[in-house]
Amino acid sequence: MTSPAAPLVRFKNVEKNFGALQVLKGITLDVAPGQVVALIGRSGSGKSTALRCVNGLEMINGGELEVCGRKLHAGKVDLLELRKDVGIVFQSYNLFPHLTVEENITLAPRKVRRIGKAEARDIAAEVLEEVGLSEKAQAYPEQLSGGQQQRVAIARSLAMRPKLILFDEVTSALDPELTGEVLKVIERLAREGMTMMLVTHEMAFARSVANTVVFMHQGRVWETGPGAMLANPVTDELRQFVGSGL
Ligand code: ADP
Ligand code: MG
Repeated sequence: MTSPAAPLVRFKNVEKNFGALQVLKGITLDVAPGQVVALIGRSGSGKSTALRCVNGLEMINGGELEVCGRKLHAGKVDLLELRKDVGIVFQSYNLFPHLTVEENITLAPRKVRRIGKAEARDIAAEVLEEVGLSEKAQAYPEQLSGGQQQRVAIARSLAMRPKLILFDEVTSALDPELTGEVLKVIERLAREGMTMMLVTHEMAFARSVANTVVFMHQGRVWETGPGAMLANPVTDELRQFVGSGL
């Protein structure tokens, strides 16, 4: 069991290899309950891999990784149980096109959490309100904009009542005018105390929403601090990254 103050996520010297390629070279990082941690860095620096390890989409090769009180480095992990606690939202929202918004949202709670139909619909209504799409419950994904579809994907994740949500570049596939509405939803979740790890290219957003910004470079946590560190980088690598406008 985790005590209230214990981190929900604890990386300790985490290593991850793909064959001969070492992608994470000893990552150490804690995420406390209610914290928002933004991962930034160049393409290929290991941000997505780090997130994917947290919900067991990838298994680590070295070090220790504890998520919601489960040691992912020690023996068998019940991935289904882990993923009840840890939601993940990707760049591509992957809604089922033949299901309504409400059906997309109630599918996992009904199948995985075995929640009854009426209760699942109540949850859907609640999470759709949370993302500002109450009126779209009976719509099909193709009837929605990209930004709205991504908000449904976030609602779908919330419906599982996760302790932690991971966001991997959730606005990267969206037109700029649709990005803001998705970021607003994440900001709202942050205000409400949801624990989140997010990979983002939106530097202003990272700076405003994150308690901690983690700059990853070549598989390492290169520099970390509050959002304000983006205005005053210590390392040349972060200075160049921030200066590159990415
Ligand atoms: P980022 O999200 O920061 O762009 P990634 O974590 O996606 O970086 O990737 C880090 C490195 O790991 C890259 O060199 C990438 O090509 C490699 N990589 C990621 N996933 C795999 C995989 N499944 N198999 C082999 N190499 C991978
Ligand atoms: Mg990535």
